[in-house]
Amino acid sequence: MTQDQVSEAEILRRFPDVRLDPDNMPHYAGLLQRRLLINRCTRCRTWHTPPRSICHRCWSHEIVAEEVSGEGVVALVTFLHQGPPASDVSYTTPYPVVTVELAEQRALRVTSTVVDCPRSMIGIGLAVTLTWIERSGRPRPAFRPSSPR
Ligand SMILES: [Zn+2]
Repeated sequence: MTQDQVSEAEILRRFPDVRLDPDNMPHYAGLLQRRLLINRCTRCRTWHTPPRSICHRCWSHEIVAEEVSGEGVVALVTFLHQGPPASDVSYTTPYPVVTVELAEQRALRVTSTVVDCPRSMIGIGLAVTLTWIERSGRPRPAFRPSSPR
């Protein structure tokens, strides 16, 4: 299990700005290992985010964080022309913020950005693959266009 490999103290130290709890702790442990973990019900196998202690579908408490494939499709796009100061974020060329629907399940979405891609190519329906960027000294999930098959 991921959390065994990253101590709680390390997670707390690396994410001082996040309200950590037992439901989201495995997700943040995964980020430090560059693994995108999302909570999944072991009873009905439904993925869900944001993390909760009860499955919204079958009400089971048997929730475990599992790694997703990282494959998905852009479902929403916005370009920020201004925003709060953030390291490695420039608003001089509008900064893309996307919501990606993951291949694992319909409507299972994560919000991130797209890298290694011209702005004109970023749009709804773009097939993307998980990649990792560094922000404020922490790994952060991002997406890049999927390689043509
Ligand atoms: Zn369930």
